[in-house]
Amino acid sequence: MRDPAELLAADRAHVWHPYGPMPGSAEPLLVRSAAGVRLRLHDGRELIDAMSSWWAAIHGYRHPVLDAAAHRQLDSMSHVMFGGLTHEPAIELATRLVAITAEPLRHVFFSDSGSVAVEVAAKMALQYWVSAGRPGKCRLITWRGGYHGDTLHPMSVCDPVGGMHSLWQSTLPAQVFLDPPPAGFDAEPDEAYLRQWDQALAEHADSLAAIIIEPVVQGAGGMRFCSPGYLTALRELADRHSVLLIFDEIATGFGRTGALFAADHAGVAPDICCLGKAMTGGYLSMAATLCTSAVAEQICRGPVPVLAHGPTFMANPLAAAVSLASIDLLLSQDWQASVSRIEAGLRRALAPIGALPGVREVRVLGAIGVVQLAGPVDVPAATAAAVERGVWLRPFRDLIYTMPAYLMGDDDLAAVGAAMEAAARAGAGPAAG
Ligand SMILES: *Cc1c(COP(=O)(O)O)cnc(C)c1O
Repeated sequence: MRDPAELLAADRAHVWHPYGPMPGSAEPLLVRSAAGVRLRLHDGRELIDAMSSWWAAIHGYRHPVLDAAAHRQLDSMSHVMFGGLTHEPAIELATRLVAITAEPLRHVFFSDSGSVAVEVAAKMALQYWVSAGRPGKCRLITWRGGYHGDTLHPMSVCDPVGGMHSLWQSTLPAQVFLDPPPAGFDAEPDEAYLRQWDQALAEHADSLAAIIIEPVVQGAGGMRFCSPGYLTALRELADRHSVLLIFDEIATGFGRTGALFAADHAGVAPDICCLGKAMTGGYLSMAATLCTSAVAEQICRGPVPVLAHGPTFMANPLAAAVSLASIDLLLSQDWQASVSRIEAGLRRALAPIGALPGVREVRVLGAIGVVQLAGPVDVPAATAAAVERGVWLRPFRDLIYTMPAYLMGDDDLAAVGAAMEAAARAGAGPAAG
């Protein structure tokens, strides 16, 4: 490897990082390799990865099964265009996704990232109503506190404050926002809250194409959990007010919340569903938008009887082959027991943090552990405290959280808990002690 100091200087000079300034202000850690749940840095230090590369690497890094699938696919082809051509990895993956998601979801549109999968979902919903002769139904309704990606249409349904909508007022479509869902996975759905939805849907029905939400867990918008009962209620409201229902399962899919898909907690099927992140086991960039036959048929009855979208790298065979291997690996084991074990380990490890000064709340659901502070996290201080204890964490806003790979061992989980405690102490700032 080239001299690390030189590499980091070039990184600062040329490479833009997520949500970062140019040139970079904080020095990123230089990773040389990764295996299992560990990142290996250029200087030989090893960190337990508590983030799973933004929740995607559910089987850890360099898993032999996924590595083998990638090698096998490389030996036949890494990519061919999808217009006019097709291939086994895409066909198998689409078939598998249809088999494991809710029954009415029958058709799969592949794209290269979660944000694009949400763009496609929005396009499907809008085009559905154009085809139905109701082009005025072109807006989306959601609850605040959500996150759906960084391209423009998905951004328009992200939380207006967290998504910095003020910066984009002149460009973003104006969507309809309601309060965030009342918190608590185990809480009963709040009737008064659902009346707000009923009223908003009645008021705006003529201009609304679809409801879009993250089912059960709001991820990058704030790591909040809500009752699956809201999914049942929104399904009923969507039907009653003639709007489509889109579930963005990009963060929640593939077991993260303790069910294979978060909608499974309620047994509710959306009209359109977005998948991404963990779909490839964190190996490659691929996402999918699924829809029902009713949606597909309506779109294709319209004046433009096709879905007008087609990414260059659509259905990339390499990513599809690894996704298929990742899904089959997940389903071939008792993944629910693994996620339950992680849930129990996180509850044990995080419970004492709730009593620390400056900590507002600790919450755990499935393989998601969250420590919410009373104010913004001092991110450099919190990260440094975790790294000192051999753990990689990436807090944001007032949140220190972990989304471990499902195979993380109990000792590593305990180490993640200890690092989160250290991060909470360091990141809550001097005022909190
Ligand atoms: C990460 C995420 C996205 C965006 O996915 P990208 O692959 O980053 O574009 C969309 N929706 C949800 C719920 C996400 O967590």
